[in-house]
Amino acid sequence: MQYCERKNEAEYWLKSYLKKIGSTGLIHSINIGKMGRLILCNVRNLNICKVDHEDYFNDSTFYINLAEKLFSIRCNRIPCNKKPWIWECMF
Ligand SMILES: [Zn+2]
Repeated sequence: MQYCERKNEAEYWLKSYLKKIGSTGLIHSINIGKMGRLILCNVRNLNICKVDHEDYFNDSTFYINLAEKLFSIRCNRIPCNKKPWIWECMF
């Protein structure tokens, strides 16, 4: 699959996922990982982290593996960004 198609597929999936979990998070950038395996979607104000961060915005990144249909959500604030990775099925 071409880079653009993969980006679009990831964005499409993420928008429906955010709707499903009732999040008002906004996708502000989508990048492809260094190895080309993961799509990184940065989301502002995801609002699902249970840790109280001082920052108003709860910046998080979705790591999406389209080939294996897996995703992981990472809160980018300390100490959350030190937590082990948890992979979940996209569907
Ligand atoms: Zn957090």
